Amino acid sequence: MLIRPLLSLAIGLPIVLAALFMGSCASDRPAAGSAVPAGSHPALLVAGALRCEYLTEPLAIDRPTPRLSWELTPVYQHSRNLVQRSYRILVADSASELAREHGTLWDSGRVDSAATNQVEYRGAALTPRQRAYWCVMVWDGDGTPSGWSKPATWTAGLLDAHGWGSARWIADATPPPAQGLDALPSPTLRREFTCGTGGATVVRATLSVTALGLYEVSINGKRVGTHELAPEWTDYTKRVQYQAYDVTALLSAGKNCVGAMLGDGWYAGKIGLTGIVPNGPARAIYGRQPQLLLRLDVTLSDGSACIIVSDDEWKSTLDGPMRTADLLDGVTYDAQKAEPGWSKPGFVGNTWKPVRVCDAPTITVVAQANEPVRVTREITPIKVFEPKPGVYVADMGQNMVGWCRLRVSGPRGNTVTVRHAEMLNPDGTIYTTNLRGAAQTDRYILGGGADELFEPRFTYHGFRYVEITGLESKPSPDAIIGRVANSDCPEVGEFACSDPDLNRLWQNIRWTQRSNLIGVPTDCPQRDERCGWMGDILAFAPTANFNMDMAAFYTKWIPDTRDAQAKDGRFADISPHPYEPDKRFSGVPAWGDAGVFVPWEAYRFYGDARILADQYDAAVRWVEYIRAKNPDLLWTNSRGNDYGDWLNADTLKLQGWPAKGAEVPKHVFASMFFYRSTWIVSEMAGVLGKSDDAKKYSDLAGAIRDAFVKAYVSADGTIEGDTQAGYALALQFGLLPERLQENAAKKMVERFKPYGGQISTGFHSTLPLMTQLTKHGYNDDAYRLVLNKKMPSWGYEVAHGATTIWERWDGFVEGRGFQDPGMNSFSHYAIGAVGEWMYTSMLGIQPVSPGFASIKLCPKPGPGIKAVRGSYRSIRGTISSAWERTPGGLRMRFELPPGMTAEVTLPTADVKAVTENTVPLDGPRSKIPWRLENGTIVCTVGSGSYDFLVRP
Ligand code: BGC
Repeated sequence: MLIRPLLSLAIGLPIVLAALFMGSCASDRPAAGSAVPAGSHPALLVAGALRCEYLTEPLAIDRPTPRLSWELTPVYQHSRNLVQRSYRILVADSASELAREHGTLWDSGRVDSAATNQVEYRGAALTPRQRAYWCVMVWDGDGTPSGWSKPATWTAGLLDAHGWGSARWIADATPPPAQGLDALPSPTLRREFTCGTGGATVVRATLSVTALGLYEVSINGKRVGTHELAPEWTDYTKRVQYQAYDVTALLSAGKNCVGAMLGDGWYAGKIGLTGIVPNGPARAIYGRQPQLLLRLDVTLSDGSACIIVSDDEWKSTLDGPMRTADLLDGVTYDAQKAEPGWSKPGFVGNTWKPVRVCDAPTITVVAQANEPVRVTREITPIKVFEPKPGVYVADMGQNMVGWCRLRVSGPRGNTVTVRHAEMLNPDGTIYTTNLRGAAQTDRYILGGGADELFEPRFTYHGFRYVEITGLESKPSPDAIIGRVANSDCPEVGEFACSDPDLNRLWQNIRWTQRSNLIGVPTDCPQRDERCGWMGDILAFAPTANFNMDMAAFYTKWIPDTRDAQAKDGRFADISPHPYEPDKRFSGVPAWGDAGVFVPWEAYRFYGDARILADQYDAAVRWVEYIRAKNPDLLWTNSRGNDYGDWLNADTLKLQGWPAKGAEVPKHVFASMFFYRSTWIVSEMAGVLGKSDDAKKYSDLAGAIRDAFVKAYVSADGTIEGDTQAGYALALQFGLLPERLQENAAKKMVERFKPYGGQISTGFHSTLPLMTQLTKHGYNDDAYRLVLNKKMPSWGYEVAHGATTIWERWDGFVEGRGFQDPGMNSFSHYAIGAVGEWMYTSMLGIQPVSPGFASIKLCPKPGPGIKAVRGSYRSIRGTISSAWERTPGGLRMRFELPPGMTAEVTLPTADVKAVTENTVPLDGPRSKIPWRLENGTIVCTVGSGSYDFLVRP
């Protein structure tokens, strides 16, 4: 094995480099006599990373035909051009049947297909909680089988309402006060039971549970699972998710106890934007009292079984230690009221009373489709200081989302108050004005123990700084642990380059994404907003997809957009939308369009046609709504709150900065989105085999484009408004006839002049600007912008210590201070959409066919950067891309997983200047097909590692 010297970059990413730097002899099958790795099969590839509905070993799948996927790995690192010719799936009802190669539930037989994902299970219907054991065998391009993969499982959920049996929704029996909406104590509920006797052991126990509100279950004193903020946010008038847990290890035959704490959460607590409803309630938007629905199924070794459900056998108290718990305001926990052992058998509590069995709400209870919110990492403060006597501030070194676990001590009854903020005032105290109505304050009333551990639940905060008061002495940094919580979507992207500030920018984008994935894609995690703003995720979705595997997340959230859709077809501005979408906050250009764009991005990245099929009617209704209101096909009427290209540079408060000229006129902006959504709907129809609709909407899109060009584009390519943003969006969406494109791009660049060469775009035009600069010959300008450190720029934020992406370009300006605290978040991902440009232009990774079956690799090196490397783990496996300027020329290295093909673009027209792994590209030893195209060399490659050198 020849390992070439590693790039001399001062970076340390956990990127899979071994294969990237391998020499390769370009042969498909290793030469005779090559060592066969121990335990491998003669096939050139094997299948692994088995998942069902995008999840690893899921415990509740309610879909009768869930989709299975796997990734292919080469057996020999040197192999190239590996493909899967066929597959065979076996599904059995026990591990032993599977081991005997008995597909008792399904044997797909050998299927000649290259598909490695979206493969539907077509076997026998599963019964509630039945576990399916499965494995897959693949055949390589030569028709050699791989042997069976390692087995995996999925478990059916309760399947439908019948699966819950006699379980009922229950709540504490004390009615909430008739007046007022103050936060109430969190109910704690418990139920003791006896299950099996004698020498029986628990073979399997499954807990299925949900709440209106939030819940945390304990069994026999032990917390169940690692989910946080379950069941997460959906429209609780229509749909709530339930979760399933394998609790076999927590139970034993004989006496047991199951207990649950409930929190207000989104159901009964404060949620963002309550103020938008005139005279509406400040909290308890969906309901006032949290409720629990639970079913516990236990199977014992003697063949007996017991089923425990939420019903009138339960007891509850409001006198527990959780005095209040609110997502925005924080919690008050009174350790003096803690009742140790409350979820263990034998506990006797004085204040516990029988629960109230509630009327069943008319909502659908569905299995959770997405990865849960979890604590995904912990961080410790970089310093603790005391800006005022007795006021301690911990700097976590990172703007994060979650909460803190504290180790404290002090006299019983004393209160420790913990406040959270993103920024500091000049005097070192925490800056909280931008939090608006979110108190983000946790209070702990000490129990008086020597060393007490406090960790809030049922809340989350967006913060970098933690202020602690009520302690008798300064806490040591190791007494404070930041618990970072987010939807646990697998992180699949990596990026690093020779510029440390750009690396920090990329880290900031990823941190901001983590901070805003809490079951829904939120705008911000700190102030009293935290809503699923549709425009923000529309702008950010492709970046989000490169950073994290969002497939399961969208599977949960895209239905939220349907639940929030107004009756007349308007998609909402926010999803979920608890404030009557028919009446308000619906139908805005580039916000509502997310109901079309985001499913399309899911299809592009994951090849998920089912998301399209499920969303199709809703998407059509949206486009038809706009058309009905705008018969001349320009979106001039009915644009709801009409936010436009949000926070474009006309909103900057900088001395000498032009007051006008950045914002693309709103009717122009809107019409562009009308076109693009209609075009996407026609594409969706094509994918779904609806050819009449495909034609209908493609014709409509064409007519919108014609109307647009006629109304807003001059003969020389000037677009009404003459803004950077307008040109960028029109080019990005394909609205301009080819003859006008170059001129429009030129005008886009001319529009830098009034801004001294700076960017002036908003949420929706920033990424298009970067992409279109690179596409139309202004790549150097794109690099200049991304490396710029002058306000406004990403570099300014980084140079001023940002660890996340700011909502506003000028969120903070040296000498001027903060922008309007009425809207100034420091953790907002929209302008972090430049991440997409970093992946698609710097690394040059671009999907061509859905699910990355074929891709382009066309990195665009630019000034100021010596080297870049990164990777994206697609649904088909990991793609790596790296380039480096070396004394011998531009070195470009790529790696593709089996089953993928790529067109690699090399920035030269001279084939004599190109070698691949030292072999001249046009020489007799090269096996790589290439062609000349637009002054570049385009090579067609299959899986494997490639090492090109392009001499100057
Ligand atoms: C949010 C944005 C959102 C916008 C609508 C703001 O308050 O934070 O990100 O998209 O409202 O214009």
